[in-house]
Amino acid sequence: MKGLQAELDQRKADGLYRQRRTTAGPQSVLQQVDGRSVLAFCSNDYLGLANHPEIKAAFIDAAQECGVGSGAAHLITGHSEWHERCEQKLAEFSGRDRALLFSTGYMANLAIASALLKRNDVVIEDKLNHASLLDAARLSDADFKRYAHASLEQLENRLQQSADCRRRLVMTDGVFSMDGDCADLPAMSRLAEQYDAWLMVDDAHGFGVLGERGAGLLEAQSISQQQVPILMGTLGKAVGCFGAFVAGSESLVETLIQGARSYIYTTATPPAVAAATVKSLEIIEREAWRRDKLGELINYFRQQMSSLDFALMPSETAIQPILVGDNFRALQISESLLEQDILVTAIRPPTVPAGSARLRVTLSAEHEKQHIDRLIAALRKV
Ligand code: PMP
Repeated sequence: MKGLQAELDQRKADGLYRQRRTTAGPQSVLQQVDGRSVLAFCSNDYLGLANHPEIKAAFIDAAQECGVGSGAAHLITGHSEWHERCEQKLAEFSGRDRALLFSTGYMANLAIASALLKRNDVVIEDKLNHASLLDAARLSDADFKRYAHASLEQLENRLQQSADCRRRLVMTDGVFSMDGDCADLPAMSRLAEQYDAWLMVDDAHGFGVLGERGAGLLEAQSISQQQVPILMGTLGKAVGCFGAFVAGSESLVETLIQGARSYIYTTATPPAVAAATVKSLEIIEREAWRRDKLGELINYFRQQMSSLDFALMPSETAIQPILVGDNFRALQISESLLEQDILVTAIRPPTVPAGSARLRVTLSAEHEKQHIDRLIAALRKV
């Protein structure tokens, strides 16, 4: 098709070409990638649950019972007993009145902005929010305002500018997906209350990992449903399964069921995925050692990195990016790590701002200290 090849070639020339890798076998920190065994530091399987035997067994049992496909959207006949049980468990686990399952986090975020807002409303977002939150604002009919990363001052200014709008929705990453730092939810919720706005938190990278019970950043920062009335969590990361949920009041969930197009017009996920999720949540509650071990690995990694000449970002979470800057340099480091059988992906614009390409190192409870030692030794050689 005319013009496409030239654009693709330009991408390559700019160091922005993206390529998929093909994995084989189960999700693991020791993975088969493109036919080679590597030690991987790029998965979001933070607790090492994606290949957990009990979760697999729950999935297989439910598939034996219900088959594979759900057959229809939730509002037709796709909503099974397993989906219902999973929603109840998610509500209880997250300490909210009710939860609603979505097929993906991307779709859940679109749903929130489109079902709650209309023309003359406003959505206000951190500039470093995940692409799905930015897209959610763009695809809604509301006005879209952004503020510099973590700037409470600019957030307040945007809220002041929006005083005449019917509704104000502030959407934020809980743990910022490419930086690993956390939103200051107590301060943000105070501003939201002061300016009569709703605060929505995307806890994709905190749910399961943060907080005493693993209920996420809201638990870690002691945030009530009143302070953050809209919580979105994903189930394909620390939970090790697939999909997402939105949790909050009865009226929030009913509004999404009635009006969210990315909920209504799509097939429900397989019931077996919901059954596996219920089992995973039980394990997250039961096996606090996974969070403790992850915390120890994060400290160990940061400590060991301090002897190297690389710039770590200020993160206390499992996302530990190494800031590089130049796109080609980031690719080059990633390639020389791969030559040493270590996989760390280079993240480039537009996923991150221009000039801030980075190696996104993620840690998992499945890693051991000796794995981190191998990574450090390999980085030393780069
Ligand atoms: N929000 C954030 C912060 C994410 O990192 C992601 C996934 N990368 C999503 C939403 C989308 O979730 P899903 O993969 O379930 O669509």
